[in-house]
Amino acid sequence: MALIVQKYGGTSVGSIDRIKAVAERVARAYRSGGQLVVVVSAMAGETNRLLQLGAQLSDAPYPRESDALVATGEQVAAALLAIRLHALGCPAVSLLGHQLRIMTDSRHGAAKIKSVNCDRIERVLGTGHVVVVAGFQGVTPEGDITTLGRGASDLTAVALAAVLHAAACEIYTDVDGVYTADPNICPKARRLDRISYDEMLEMAGLGAKVLQLRSVELARRYNVPLVVKSSFSEDTHGTWVGREDQAMENVLVSGVTLDQNQSKITLTGVEDRPGLAARIFGPIAEAGIVVDMIIQNAGADGRADLTFTAPRADLKRALELVRAVAGEIGAAGVRHEDQVAKVSIVGVGMRTHAGVAATMFKVLAAEGVNIEMIATSEIKVSVVVNAKYGELAMRVLHDAFLGENPALAGN
Ligand code: ADP
Ligand code: ASP
Ligand code: MG
Repeated sequence: MALIVQKYGGTSVGSIDRIKAVAERVARAYRSGGQLVVVVSAMAGETNRLLQLGAQLSDAPYPRESDALVATGEQVAAALLAIRLHALGCPAVSLLGHQLRIMTDSRHGAAKIKSVNCDRIERVLGTGHVVVVAGFQGVTPEGDITTLGRGASDLTAVALAAVLHAAACEIYTDVDGVYTADPNICPKARRLDRISYDEMLEMAGLGAKVLQLRSVELARRYNVPLVVKSSFSEDTHGTWVGREDQAMENVLVSGVTLDQNQSKITLTGVEDRPGLAARIFGPIAEAGIVVDMIIQNAGADGRADLTFTAPRADLKRALELVRAVAGEIGAAGVRHEDQVAKVSIVGVGMRTHAGVAATMFKVLAAEGVNIEMIATSEIKVSVVVNAKYGELAMRVLHDAFLGENPALAGN
């Protein structure tokens, strides 16, 4: 019997009416046969509300307790959905991360899944129930509640789909698929029928929060067939995320992304000698801060300026660490900027086409947008710009590469 994992995000279960609508959809799928595991997020805004409560009591809430607090959001949503399913005559059991033994390490707030035990789910499915799972949470070997990182109910869904060998993992959200750009920022964005794991991975890492980054990584590793659909419409199309095929290669640029949560740090007057980059970035890596772009310019005087980007949420901690090292290595100073945005174009076709980056720079220059940093990989080009130009840059790049007369088309 085919097993499907469905995941409903915060807005999809954001009110009592929305939970009723989701329950109807789940009950319909249940009646049409097959086995169903349904993962839910907390009701929209709830995770932030809970974090806010903690923040009113401490500048740095103790991580173990913070996780115990925020995990309640998903518990409430799972129980409410199961209550409604029973009321519709659809037998359902809600289960939390620790009941399912979604085992994680103990990095509270960003825990990694180590293993998932399927026994309980399989038993419950075997008795003809729908299993409703609280997303986003796990448990340490000591029995402490952990959470898996923001947006990580997607990860719970993909992990369950992988271990249960589900026929598909359906991610229901407030848009009807993955678009060529965030449709809430770029009105001309189009829904993609299909996208490769690699492109989706880049897009998720570069700001397209429609799928959480680690969930895409896991889907790719275990070949989980992933589809993104809207819970607000009956349209059954959505976007499939899967292995790259030949038709995908012919598309030069698949998407444009915008990350507005970046910051930039510059160390000036760093001596140009071996070992200093390691001294600077070692402590940052140890603190778990993900550094993305790095630029080093050596001056004629033998001293260099070193600039890098880091998530804005980590700016304070990164500055503390960099200032400490700057003193030790005799750097001239440390500057930072928190109003920066990263705009990127992504597409597997870039592997075989030349001139994409140059065209991107020309398009931005024509709008008077100054490029502060550049990074490229095989299938993406990213630029850092002043935050106030982020949305404009996204729209003009979308017009240029994905509009009616796309640049470099047919090359
Ligand atoms: P959920 O709460 O269901 O997990 P999210 O808010 O995490 O939903 O993700 C859906 C949102 O992702 C959309 O409302 C949209 O604004 C945003 N988004 C960003 N980039 C894209 C994209 N390329 N395609 C679709 N949605 C995108
Ligand atoms: N509720 C969690 C969050 O807001 C997880 C999720 O929505 O996927 O980050
Ligand atoms: Mg999400």
